[in-house]
Amino acid sequence: MEHEKRANLTDELADFRALVRDFVAREVMPHHARWETERIVPRELWRKAGAAGLLGLNLPAAHGGGGIDDYRFNATLVEELARAGATGPGISVHNDVCAPYFVKLAADEQLARWVPGMVSGESICAIAMTEPGAGSDLRGMRTTATPTERGWKVSGSKTFITNGVNADLVITAARTDPAVGKGVSLFVIERGAPGFERGRNLEKIGMHAQDTAELSFDDVEVPRANLLGELGQGLAYLTRNLAQERLTIGVQAVAAAEGALRTTLAYVKDRAAFGQAIGTFQHNAFLLAELATEVKVARVLLDWAVAEHTDGRLSADVAAMVKLHTTEMQQRVLDRCLQLHGGYGYMAEYAVGRAWADARVQTIYGGTSEMMKLIISRSLGLQEDRTDGRLRG
Ligand SMILES: Cc1cc2nc3c(=O)[nH]c(=O)nc-3n(C[C@H](O)[C@H](O)[C@H](O)COP(=O)(O)OP(=O)(O)OC[C@H]3O[C@@H](n4cnc5c(N)ncnc54)[C@H](O)[C@@H]3O)c2cc1C
Repeated sequence: MEHEKRANLTDELADFRALVRDFVAREVMPHHARWETERIVPRELWRKAGAAGLLGLNLPAAHGGGGIDDYRFNATLVEELARAGATGPGISVHNDVCAPYFVKLAADEQLARWVPGMVSGESICAIAMTEPGAGSDLRGMRTTATPTERGWKVSGSKTFITNGVNADLVITAARTDPAVGKGVSLFVIERGAPGFERGRNLEKIGMHAQDTAELSFDDVEVPRANLLGELGQGLAYLTRNLAQERLTIGVQAVAAAEGALRTTLAYVKDRAAFGQAIGTFQHNAFLLAELATEVKVARVLLDWAVAEHTDGRLSADVAAMVKLHTTEMQQRVLDRCLQLHGGYGYMAEYAVGRAWADARVQTIYGGTSEMMKLIISRSLGLQEDRTDGRLRG
């Protein structure tokens, strides 16, 4: 729980953590309840995050990005937001999920066009893979990109897209080969492109400060200059980047569980029943001992995985293990913490109840727990592989 004391924490990381913590305390938490009601974070906050140096940490310095090639900075930012219980802004999707596609795939001309806005907060990013008929099995996606003289015409619809309402740059996966399951490519579709429409901001059971939208593309003209990477390599790119997305979800999971445990410990020491603090009943004390152990085990796994990833060694199957373990742990711990709060735990005004609802999606997005088990069992040589190795979420 004491992340400040971690042995490998460098001074720079400690300074960065202090900067993020201050930003979250000053610019995020005082407004978070309003954003939860409005179901979105105002664009102005993104510009403030940009001005504070929190956006595009890994984007190339030559184009104004942070130029940091150390995932621990990304993890620190995600952790501080999760620790505070902030579900918006969706910076982790912008920094940890979308930016790597630009770093690895974008040509110089594309970087020059897009990076400055991504760093300043003028251009908010989203990634659109999921469709109404294709989630776990992305090979079933039906959005198509048909060649034209200038590039492609994209048609189809996407759903559950994080930052979908606010997004200016949407990395959109579309089939460039008419055969289902083949030839997916990635395109950057920009706000205002004729035929690109956003649906409603979807009403979720948690993560209320985050906008999640349906997107539709009706013969959207996408110029050749907006193709990311090589034609037909989209599924391979998606697969490669999902390890970091899953690790980031793990970072959120452990930080949120640590936060809930801390709040619950304070609560059970204060709340009395039958003449004693409820935490001193042996059942509850033992339960909390178990929860603290679960959280610690997850923290050790996560810190190891973050170090592995920072050194470029985290494999897809181990990232799947991290996501599976940490997010299932988060839900078990959050559920028990809520129980220890009694009726107050069920009240939306208590942080633990909101965190419990926010946690529910963690075993679903970024690839469900079942998909994580498929990936892991395949790495053990146990799954009949009908997935072509392209499992995601
Ligand atoms: C809040 C939120 C934000 C999201 N953000 C994004 C985003 O930014 N971009 C994006 O592209 N997507 C996003 N998603 C989509 C998310 O990744 C998908 O919902 C997820 O991958 C599951 O797909 P699905 O909903 O179609 O479920 P399905 O694939 O229909 O799965 C339904 C159930 O069947 C199980 N199942 C499926 N196949 C198998 C199998 N072979 N064996 C066993 N069980 C199986 C699944 O595990 C699940 O329990 C988001 C979702 C949510 C809820």
